[in-house]
Amino acid sequence: MTTKSILISGASIGGPALAFWLHRYGFDVTVVEKAHEVRRGGQAVDFKGPIHMTVLQRMGILSAVEAASVPSEDGALVNAKGRRVGVIPGAFAGGEINVPRGDLAHILYDLTADTCEYVLGNSITSLTETADGVDVTFVNGAPRRFDVVLGADGMHSNVRKLVFGPEADYVTHLGYSYALATIDAGADDVMYNEPGRMAALGGLKAPAFFVFASELLPSRDDLDAQKQQMMDAYAGGRWRLPELIGRIPSSPDFYMDSISRATLDHYSRGRVALVGDAAYGNALGGFGTGLALVGAYVLAGELAKAAGDHGTAFEKYEEKFRAYASISQKVNAGRLLAPATKLGIVARNILFTSLKVFAPLMRIFDSPAKNITLEDYDATLRAPHVA
Ligand SMILES: Cc1cc2nc3c(=O)[nH]c(=O)nc-3n(C[C@H](O)[C@H](O)[C@H](O)COP(=O)(O)OP(=O)(O)OC[C@H]3O[C@@H](n4cnc5c(N)ncnc54)[C@H](O)[C@@H]3O)c2cc1C
Repeated sequence: MTTKSILISGASIGGPALAFWLHRYGFDVTVVEKAHEVRRGGQAVDFKGPIHMTVLQRMGILSAVEAASVPSEDGALVNAKGRRVGVIPGAFAGGEINVPRGDLAHILYDLTADTCEYVLGNSITSLTETADGVDVTFVNGAPRRFDVVLGADGMHSNVRKLVFGPEADYVTHLGYSYALATIDAGADDVMYNEPGRMAALGGLKAPAFFVFASELLPSRDDLDAQKQQMMDAYAGGRWRLPELIGRIPSSPDFYMDSISRATLDHYSRGRVALVGDAAYGNALGGFGTGLALVGAYVLAGELAKAAGDHGTAFEKYEEKFRAYASISQKVNAGRLLAPATKLGIVARNILFTSLKVFAPLMRIFDSPAKNITLEDYDATLRAPHVA
């Protein structure tokens, strides 16, 4: 095997999923994560269709994920007086299995923590490729050398920035931002819209979930500035908006990001490849977690099949995965969640409420989610160390 040691950046979904398969195929795996613990938080993310279920099953975590799942129920669309004007179908908010993102990250971490080295609270500062490896320096600790480095560090990927170039070359801001907050706003599952802004309470997504049109990118790493940006976007609102906005300054786990899409002509460069949101993310598109999980499965499988020949493996990963990941290039969830006009809101409400129209649309929308033939790498490889 030419590749033995692999460094993965990011311990959310794609990173630990890669770690699981790579260890299983006999690689030495190290995962570096910027946060000091595997992060909790985030909305419920969803899995649907036979491809997702097959990968979960092959990882042996389908029942654990099902056990952690939360139900996907219909919610209410309300007007400024709080009167119900339509329905948000559970089928829109979730898939067949909806699992809180943080719980899923912990299931994947628990699966790999004993067999892979996790370095938490650290981050890569430079990657220098040589003829026989990648020399890596870190914010903390001594430099190390790995055969291959994989970036599973999300939409704002550090590995992508270090190896491929600035984020602006690969990430397109789609004109909206979203914010999640835990505020005591009642348990009702409701969603309210004004042109270019939406607030949803309760339900699957988060205790309070906001999507709003904004050409501004949220300021990075400055929570107070983010909160201010969000509160400005909701100024002068009706319904419960003034009350909700008033609670934002004291919200303990506020999270805000832009709705953006990552587009890369190639998922790899030299000994470095990207998986998940770093390579084909699209915030709130509803398929990022499935793509990360399946992408990790294919990338790890191809590395094992090519006996660690990273050049061959990365080429195959790209060839097999690009069409499947194409769904990430097609949608802008902001337009659907926060239509720009009153007419757009009415049309969206009719679409949501009319389940007869909605069900076939959902099937068309989800069709690329089947656009891959999953190889059974375990069976192909017949690796002696496979349990
Ligand atoms: C805290 C959090 C909350 C989220 N909430 C939602 C949500 O509510 N709804 C939704 O649809 N999606 C959410 N996501 C994104 C969702 O998890 C991904 O779209 C999807 O699961 C693909 O996962 P990924 O592993 O590719 O990337 P991500 O889940 O984004 O994970 C990237 C990981 O890399 C880590 N990282 C970032 N920079 C560095 C660095 N320099 N060095 C090392 N590690 C680094 C991050 O801390 C994170 O753990 C959230 C992600 C996070 C991290």
